[in-house]
This record gives sequence, structure tokens and C-alpha cells, in this order.
Amino acid sequence: MHVLMVSSECAPLAKAGGLGDAVAGLARALGALGHRVEVLLPAYDCLRPAGLGPSQGLDIGLKVHFGGRAIDCRLQELPLEGYTCRLITPTPDDPFFSRGRIYGESDDGERFAFFACAALEYLRLMASTRRPDVLHCHDWQTGLLPALLKGAATPSTPGSIDLPLPAIPVCYTLHNIGYQGRFGPDLLDKIGCGPVSALARRWLADHTDPDRINLMKAGIAAADAVNTVSPRYAWEVLYTEQGMGLQTWLQRYAFKFAGILNGIDTAVWDPERDPVLPARFGLQTLERKSDNRRALCDRLGLAYDPRRPLIAVISRLDRQKGVELIVHGISYGLESGAQVALLGSALEPEIAARFESLRTQYADSPDARLVLGYDESLAHLIYAASDLILIPSLYEPCGLTQLIAMRYGTVPIARRVGGLADTIEDANDSIAPLERRTGFLFDEPTPEALADAMERAIWLGREYPAEFNRLRRNGMRMDWSWRQPARHYLELYRYAQQSCVRSERPVLGR
Ligand code: ADP
Repeated sequence: MHVLMVSSECAPLAKAGGLGDAVAGLARALGALGHRVEVLLPAYDCLRPAGLGPSQGLDIGLKVHFGGRAIDCRLQELPLEGYTCRLITPTPDDPFFSRGRIYGESDDGERFAFFACAALEYLRLMASTRRPDVLHCHDWQTGLLPALLKGAATPSTPGSIDLPLPAIPVCYTLHNIGYQGRFGPDLLDKIGCGPVSALARRWLADHTDPDRINLMKAGIAAADAVNTVSPRYAWEVLYTEQGMGLQTWLQRYAFKFAGILNGIDTAVWDPERDPVLPARFGLQTLERKSDNRRALCDRLGLAYDPRRPLIAVISRLDRQKGVELIVHGISYGLESGAQVALLGSALEPEIAARFESLRTQYADSPDARLVLGYDESLAHLIYAASDLILIPSLYEPCGLTQLIAMRYGTVPIARRVGGLADTIEDANDSIAPLERRTGFLFDEPTPEALADAMERAIWLGREYPAEFNRLRRNGMRMDWSWRQPARHYLELYRYAQQSCVRSERPVLGR
């Protein structure tokens, strides 16, 4: 199958969180199964191509009509393991992707609407020679593309090559419904793909404010198959307030909506081969974790004391991740005699200031260190060095942190929501077989519930270290690779192919 993914992230080139990991992991796994995968990505100026081969300029030019201008784009191709990345660069002066970062700009709506329009032009151009069997779009940043493709815009762009839009099956993945891409209606005027149909306007109209548009909502309606990234989160967004207002809309389209658990890239996240680690380890050499702990303590200026548990936090510091609970967890851990290492990055100024002041508070402590920023190699070392990891998310579509932690023999303490509930079995409170128990879960998003789970974890490690190590080993034995999820995606792609009916395409202006 020829799969074209369109995404705002693809690790390691462009990664702000789990989306980048998921797109790259799935692309590579599909490639390994013999499928041809291309990922279309904006050519951000902050791409991290270090260690990758050189990209090659392609002899393909796109003219994208946007904001009343015709913007020329070049395409670069970067071959990666198992798939290729095609990078879209607007020229000559890139108004959209030379911002030094992926997100957080006041015109993010425009930037990614432009990207969707450029991807549409790409599809139009490729229709005769490299037409994909399925188009796979991800998150709000590309939600506009299915809507435009499914006949919501004029069949050809004035001034551009007069080719019809191909009927391509579309799969659309919701990685996080907390970010829906809601913008003012003026964004529609900027979409230089011609008039947008009445149906598209209905798709795009936000559910709470019809004067605003909602890109994720449009993607859900227009795609042939929709999924989110864990079965439990799929249920939560359909039937609880985790749907963030889209519950009714999703229920309408539940016939084509599925939950598929993310995997992790087990080649990148492999404690036996990880080049970042001073001491690589596996199931039979678990004791080497303590050498990594020594290295981490040296690097962060913490006291090395392997008799005490080391609790990690590796997270975007965002309300979704339960920042208040993280703060409680740090102080409860320290009061209980544990050490704490936090690596986190905050976009919201208020949260950034909060953690900056905590960082200062603990700056001289031998037992706690907060590193604020994004540091891939430090993340590897913390996963390898720690005993426990705190993941008190308010909601969690899938979560990769707990999967990586388990692979590195670090036991998660997490809230029983979304993908965390799907992937962690509680040490005590579980009907799961003993060999599947991997962590500590709590239900209520309160300091008390978190403290209770932390207390159980610290107690088990102190009183019954062999049992605690059994949890570590159980987690390390789990298969969190993309092998199985990739097969589920192939099934979803086949479903999309079957339900891609061109007759749904609206008549213009209807
Ligand atoms: P989300 O996508 O919501 O941020 P996930 O758990 O799905 O959360 O994925 C988080 C990914 O980002 C993991 O690979 C984690 O190791 C990584 N990560 C999060 N924060 C940082 C950070 N500050 N530095 C390095 N890696 C980080």
C-alpha cells in the first residue's frame, strides 16, 4: 500500500511531543511491513536533521494560493529508515515556517491552514503519477485537508494547474482532542483554494460558536475513517467531558471511529542498545541501572544514594499533564525520603514561572533537580536511571512516557485515564495476572489519591524489593512496539478505502 501521511511533526526531524514519535514510529513500522510510506512535513527552520543523510531537492514546484497571494513552494526529499519525508518549503521568504519553533505563534491557524492547502496542491499534482492509496492526516493542524479534499473547495485552484482533485481514502487520527484548532472565520478567506462549499462551512463551524471554525471537527466529518490513540480514550471522548465539546459530533460519526494504541520506536528506545546510556542493561542485567543513576546524579549534581527511590517526571508542563499534581508529587516524594529528577518544558508563561520558582527553590537540594527545557538525551538517561515515574495526567490520549519508562525498567505511578489505563496494570488493585502487573494507578485527580499511590509504590520498593523488581521486569517484557498497532492501522486504511465514496462530494455552494 502507498500511504501518504501529512503531519506537523515527525521525530526526530520535528518533534514537540508524542505526535512526532507516533508518526515516525508508524511510518517506519509500515515500511518494515513492505508498504511505501511518505510523510509530508513543513520544512521548519528548526528541523533537527543532525545525523540524517542529506536531503535532496525535488524537481516539483507547487503554487499555493493563500491569503490572496500565490506562494511558490519547493519540495525537498529526505530518505529515512523505511520511509521518506517530503518537506514543503515556501519561497522565497518563508512567511510560515521560519519561526524557530513548531508551535506557539499567534498565527498558528494560518500557518497550518497554509500547510493543508500546500498538501492539497501536492495531491493534485501527484494524482496521475504518485497517487497514494490512502491519505493519513494527523491532529488539528491537518484537519482542514480532508475537508478540502472531499470536495469542499473548488475543483481547481484559479491560476494553478487545472487538475481535478483525486478521490483518495482518508484516515484521520486525533492525537489530542484538547487541541481542536479553533479560529476566527477570516481563516476561510485566506484559504486560496477557491470558494468553500456550504457543506464544508457546516463541517467547519465550531460547535460552541458558529462564527468560529474548528479544523478538527471538519476533519472528523470529512475523513473516511477516524481514530484516536487508545481504546479507552476513544470511549472517553465519545461519552465523557474528555470529548471537550465534540462528544455529540463524534457520536454521530462513531460508525467510523476507532481507538488504536500507539507504539514506541523500540529501536530508539532500547535500554540494551541505547547509545546515550553509560551503562546499557536488559532483563538479566537490571542492576546496571544504578550506574546510570550515578551518571545522572553526577550530571545533575544530586547526591548518589541507591537505597532511596529516584522518582522521575518527564513531561510537557501543561495543564493536561496535571501540573498541580506534579508539584504535590515532588514534595510528597521528598517528604517520603525519595529523590526527584524533573525534565519538563512549559509553553504557558504562568506555568513556566511556577516551575522556574520551584527550580530555584530546589537549586541547592542534594535530592531534587528540575531541568526546564527540552533535552532528548537527558530524557533517555532519566528513564534509565529512575525507579519510578510520575504521570498524573488529567487526561491522556495514549501517553508514550509510561511505555518508554516500562521498557527502561522504571515503574509508572499514573492516573487511571485514557491510554495510561489501557497500558498499566496496578500492582495491587488488579484482576490482571501477576505477570502483567506493571505499575501503580489512582483515580481521583487529587493530592490524596496521588499520595496514596506513591506511598504504595515507595513502600513496596522499600519492604519488598524483589516484588518491586518483578514489576520492573513485567514492564520490560511487554511488547510496546509498533508491530501490532501498524497492523491495526492497515485494517483502518482498508476500511477507509471501502468507504471512500465520491458521491458524498458536495455540489459547490449547495
Ligand atoms: P505528549 O505528546 O502529550 O507530550 P506523550 O507521553 O505522548 O505526551 O509523549 C511525550 C514524549 O515527549 C515522550 O517521548 C517523552 O520522553 C518526550 N518528552 C516530554 N517532555 C520532554 C522534555 N522536556 N525533554 C525531552 N523529551 C520530552
